[in-house]
Amino acid sequence: MQFINRLSRWALSGPRAWLSIIFVAFIALLFVYKSLVSPTNNPKDYTLPSTAKIDTEKSNDTKSLVPPQASSNTDEDNNYDSLVTTDPLQNVEKVTASIPSIEYVIKPGDTLARIFARLGLSRESLYSVLEADQEFLVLEPLMPDDKFTFKLDENGDLLRITRRIDISKSVSYVQHDGGGFSYEEKVNPITYTQEAVHSKISGNFYLSAKKVGLSDTNILIINDLLKGRVNFRKDLRAGDDFNVIVKKGNIGGVKVGETQLEALEITVRGQKYSAFLHSDGRFYDLDGNSLTPALLRWPTRKQYRISSPFNANRLHPITGRPAPHNGVDLATPSGTEVLATGDGVVTRIATHKYAGKYVVVDYTGPYSSRFLHLSKILVKQGQKVKRGQVIALSGNTGRTTGAHLHYELHIRGRPVNPMTTDIPTTQSIPKGDKKEYASNVKRWVAMMASAQAADSVKNTDVESEPEPVSELDAAAN
Ligand SMILES: [Zn+2]
Repeated sequence: MQFINRLSRWALSGPRAWLSIIFVAFIALLFVYKSLVSPTNNPKDYTLPSTAKIDTEKSNDTKSLVPPQASSNTDEDNNYDSLVTTDPLQNVEKVTASIPSIEYVIKPGDTLARIFARLGLSRESLYSVLEADQEFLVLEPLMPDDKFTFKLDENGDLLRITRRIDISKSVSYVQHDGGGFSYEEKVNPITYTQEAVHSKISGNFYLSAKKVGLSDTNILIINDLLKGRVNFRKDLRAGDDFNVIVKKGNIGGVKVGETQLEALEITVRGQKYSAFLHSDGRFYDLDGNSLTPALLRWPTRKQYRISSPFNANRLHPITGRPAPHNGVDLATPSGTEVLATGDGVVTRIATHKYAGKYVVVDYTGPYSSRFLHLSKILVKQGQKVKRGQVIALSGNTGRTTGAHLHYELHIRGRPVNPMTTDIPTTQSIPKGDKKEYASNVKRWVAMMASAQAADSVKNTDVESEPEPVSELDAAAN
């Protein structure tokens, strides 16, 4: 110690001080340079501890050097770290990193975290994608046989993740230069055909309707439309009959989506009831009176302060990239009762890293809603709910800056501003739409009449399968 003390006093006195400082700085730089350019030969230096957090860049650079370890593949869903370091597949992926895209078919038990880990993608990229997904909620839940495509760059980093929704639609998150991901969708044009079908009721209405190809959803809609006017169990008699117009979509001859009910005529004990779909997605009777219940404007009993408005064109303040806010944030204290804003069916209950606990409800007509960041969900998937029914309690789950309710309203799958959009509150066809409605009704009534006439000519004696009669092209829509 004494020697070092004397040496430093000698070295740091007078003009020698400068020389000493320069010498020490040089030696230091030499060390820094050496550590940057020379790889260590000890492979253990690259083995990442399975419980530690992994620095993305480091793991990308080094994982190909990790020898595959004969390690137990953990069954914990989100044990991302251990999968990165122990999955023997990671070496295979690294070798094939120059392949432009990777197709992945979902298997039972898959999670996004596992798939990302298996493809050697960083957890940060998963979180970044999920962050963009918060406003769209299209990546999950995963269903077996779903098809995903991953496009990676030469470093094995994620450039694009695509999920095929069906033959008509796929959605992607694409990395932008700001580092985050932007939503994109690809939609193939659908060709629609219209069919008029006539059928006599034999057995019960449900069976007769199924026999002519109506879906459970169609039958539910018919039930809702005639509620209060017809009691399906009591009133219908064998020999009563009905006509429907259904619209079916296809792409290149392959059926797409649900068969949509457009018009209905049902005769019950000599009394005819009818319902026709208008372009606003609601059903009206022959006189243009609404048969679809109206929606509530607010999903809460009180009107809360709007802490963040709907903004489909919002840009990210830093990256300048699209970062839409597809709902409206209401400053509800945790535990506030959340109401279904229409009559409908609960179609999804899920948890999302950023959206928290959430519920999706499909309403009668083209409307649906999403309720995010809930603390407690009071309904089950598949449950029918009524307008004004309490379906959940608001909360603070997912990523929030405080307790609030994020409420979305969609029309035909497109988010709209729930506070300002023209939601159905009127009880009859708007004046400006009367002409369009009347001409549709006239055409549909004529189609159904000829379907019925053709059916009765054919079935004068024998009761048999009803047949579709006329077809219309997409131009009619
Ligand atoms: Zn929000």
